[in-house]
Amino acid sequence: LSERLSGVFDRLTKQGALSEDDVKTALREVRVALLEADVSLPVARDFVKAVQEQATGQAVTKSITPGQQVVKIVHDALIDVLKGEGEPGALKIDNPPAPILMVGLQGGGKTTTTAKLAKRLKEREGKRVLMASLDVNRPAAMEQLAILGQQIGVDTLPIVKGEDPVAITKRAKTQAGLGGYDVYMLDTAGRLSIDEELMQQVEAVRDVVTPRETLLVVDGLTGQDAVHTAENFDERIGISGVVLTRMDGDGRGGAALSMRAVTGKPIKFVGLGEKMDALETFEPERIAGRILGMGDIVALVEKAQETIEAEQAERMMKRMAKGQFNMNDLKMQLEQMIKMGGMQGMMGMMPGMGKMAKQVEDAGLDDKMLKQQIALIQSMTKKERANPQLLQASRKKRIAKGAGMEVSDLNKLMKMHRQMSDMMKKMGKMGKGGMLKQAMK
Ligand code: GDP
Ligand code: MG
Repeated sequence: LSERLSGVFDRLTKQGALSEDDVKTALREVRVALLEADVSLPVARDFVKAVQEQATGQAVTKSITPGQQVVKIVHDALIDVLKGEGEPGALKIDNPPAPILMVGLQGGGKTTTTAKLAKRLKEREGKRVLMASLDVNRPAAMEQLAILGQQIGVDTLPIVKGEDPVAITKRAKTQAGLGGYDVYMLDTAGRLSIDEELMQQVEAVRDVVTPRETLLVVDGLTGQDAVHTAENFDERIGISGVVLTRMDGDGRGGAALSMRAVTGKPIKFVGLGEKMDALETFEPERIAGRILGMGDIVALVEKAQETIEAEQAERMMKRMAKGQFNMNDLKMQLEQMIKMGGMQGMMGMMPGMGKMAKQVEDAGLDDKMLKQQIALIQSMTKKERANPQLLQASRKKRIAKGAGMEVSDLNKLMKMHRQMSDMMKKMGKMGKGGMLKQAMK
């Protein structure tokens, strides 16, 4: 596949913006790669179509071919789709005892994952966990959980012969409350395929406890079937997240993409082996790389983009040291801020700045405002951006109107520009750019 791709990319060496043809040609190969990774056909088709619209017209980084650029755009779009809201791997389990319901087909890895997750909650979050097997059809399955529990030092609900799943669930709930457990996990029975009896059983259990999390455990190697399973369980039971198992195998994990696209539910964890610590938080970047299988190209484009950014920054610093900080430079700074997660994000990263981040938020200095400021700069002509001193009353009115804002907003932006410009001049004088360079690192 790689060879085929580089062939296509060699033919696409035009520079500038991505044309519709560039994008189409490259995406044909991307589509094949997705299908080979076991992404379901409709999902692959929709995804490629969305990327096509998004990619056409985008700039091509210097020294990169259009085809390579498209791969990078695809890679980033994949990460976007794979990423759910909220922290990956986070579970809503405050207010003890919190019930977690584990559902899925037989052999998907429910029992193993129940124990892996219990171990993780115990070791990483210091939680007291109780596990209960509801698999009354297979006594061996109940034994299996008990043995795993012993192995990892997590309690299991004592097995009582002849009880049905609902009775076991009620006993688990009572025991979790009396025993002071933080979490109790219910490992349900599976079937080889989805059937009515299974669904009714899981529904009955769900209604006894109202689970805080309902995790669907699916074999990541089963591709299309996994998606079908997820759809069914979500419709009947309502799932809060997915655990993809057997991701230690050769599969490329296309099921992850299909499942996100079809259910919209977050993938929380991936299983990477049979051992009890082979469970990891789901990482969209990693799976995206694996699904696409074009890591070299992505790395190449990222490197080229970094080089260009470094060159731009260097040029900007040189001009700033000479006191030539113009609106283009300010725009670059504002864009950088958004990229780094906005003002709050940047401050949140700096130790001791958490409180200030809150103040910034209260003052309305958020992403939206950064974007408005960028819009104002975009509404200026080339000449005006390079020479902000040109901005007199009539020009100001035109610019503010063009960006859908007031002249007073523009005045604020100009004040900020003047302040930054003064500061840059001072810093430039102090270290002939050296200090500034340090500050920007
Ligand atoms: P259940 O029927 O859904 O409860 O499935 P089990 O938890 O009993 O797992 C079935 C088999 O899959 C067992 O042999 C597990 O060791 C194995 N298994 C579970 N998760 C993983 C995984 O992430 N990777 C690998 N390689 N094997 C797994
Ligand atoms: Mg089981």
